[in-house]
Amino acid sequence: MLVVKKFGGTSVGNAERIFNVARRCAKEYQAGNDVVMVLSAMGKQTDVLIDMAHEINPNPPKRELDMLLTTGEQTSVALMAMAFATMGIPSISLNAFQVAMHTTSVYGNARLKRIDTERIQHELEGRKIVIVTGFQGVNKYEDFTTLGRGGSDTTAVALAAALHADKCEIYTDVDGVYTADPRIVKKARKMEEITYNEMLDLATLGAGVLHNRSVELAKKYNVPLVVRSSLNESEGTTIKEVVKVEGMLVSGVAADKNATRISVVGLEDRPGVAFKLFNMIAKAHINVDMILQSIGRDGSKDISFTVPEDMADECYKLLEDNLEVLKAKKVDMRKNVAKVSVVGAGMMSTPGVAAKMFECLYNADININMISTSEIRVTVLIDEKDTERAMNAAHEAFGLED
Ligand code: ASP
Ligand code: MG
Repeated sequence: MLVVKKFGGTSVGNAERIFNVARRCAKEYQAGNDVVMVLSAMGKQTDVLIDMAHEINPNPPKRELDMLLTTGEQTSVALMAMAFATMGIPSISLNAFQVAMHTTSVYGNARLKRIDTERIQHELEGRKIVIVTGFQGVNKYEDFTTLGRGGSDTTAVALAAALHADKCEIYTDVDGVYTADPRIVKKARKMEEITYNEMLDLATLGAGVLHNRSVELAKKYNVPLVVRSSLNESEGTTIKEVVKVEGMLVSGVAADKNATRISVVGLEDRPGVAFKLFNMIAKAHINVDMILQSIGRDGSKDISFTVPEDMADECYKLLEDNLEVLKAKKVDMRKNVAKVSVVGAGMMSTPGVAAKMFECLYNADININMISTSEIRVTVLIDEKDTERAMNAAHEAFGLED
C-alpha cells in the first residue's frame, strides 16, 4: 500500500515532535507500506519569514518572497530525514525542484499543473521513505513558487493523485473536522465523515483545517482523504463523495475574518460595467468572493464584493487609480467584516435554511451586510466583532451540539 502523509507546522514544530512523527511513519514503513511524507514549515516559521521580509521591505518582490518562504519547508524535510537517519531508516528529502512539481508562474499563489513522479517512484522502489516539501513548486522560469498559505495540503493531495496512492492522510493538531472551530464554539463536535462538497465549502469559508484547493483536487481525482491528529491515535474525519445521511440539515459552521468589503460607488447602469470591473480585478490575480450589485437608479449603480484581506489594499489602489476608466464616483473599503457560513448537503432539498439563519442572527441582534447562498451553503457578511456570537447562535439554531 502507498500512503501519503502530510504533517502541518505544529506537528513538526520542534525536535521532539519531529521524532514523534518520524516514529509514527516508521511504523507504517516497517509494516511494509510505501510512505511519502509532505511537510509544512516548522511551527510559525512561514510567519516568521514573512515578518523578516517586511522588516527589509514592506512590499517585497513576490519572486524573492517565494524564494525566502520555500526555505521553511526545506528546513523541515531535511531535519526529518536526519531524524530517520538516527533510527536507521532509509529516507530522502526532496524539494519541489528535485521532484519536479510544476506550477503556474504566479508567485505567492501558484497552482500545481503537473508532478513528475519518476524520482519519487525510484526512491520508493529503493525502499526509502520520501519526504517532500509542501507548499512549493517550480514555474516555467525555473523559479520557486508557493501555492498560497496553507498550500501543503494541496501538495499532499496532488501527490497522492499523481502517485495513485491508496490513502492521503492530513495530520494536524486537531482530531479531525469539527462542526465549528471548537476554540470558538465550545459545543462543537467532531464529524466522522463529510462529503467533498461540504468540506470544500467549509474549507473555502474559513474552517481552517484544509486548504480548499486540496479538497477540490481530492474530489476531482477521488483521493480518499482523512484528517486526523498527529498527537494521538484517534480516527479522524474521512472526506469522500457520499456519506451516510445523518439527517442533518447543516453539517458545519465556519467563519472567515480574512475578508474585506470593497464597494465601487456610482457606476454607470449599462451593459458591460461589471465585466470591465471584474476583468480588471481578475487580471491583477485578486480573488473575488461575495458580489452584490444594487438596483440601478437614475442611471447609476453600486457594486460591492469581498476580497481576501491580504489583497484588499492592492485591490483598493487598483480601483482608485482607475476610477476614471471605470467611470465610477468612488471606492470604499471596509476591513473589519467577517463571513459566517452554514454548510450542509442536507439543505439542498429543504427550504427554510436561509430563513432560519437570518432568524438566529436577528435574535442575537447581529446585522447582516451581504448575503450569498449556494445549494449547500448560506453565507452572511457581518461586523467582525460579532463573529463568535454569530457562530454560536448558528451552531445552536441548527442543533449541531453534541
Ligand atoms: N508553511 C505554509 C504556511 O504556513 C504552508 C502550509 O503550512 O501548508 O502557509
Ligand atoms: Mg494548514
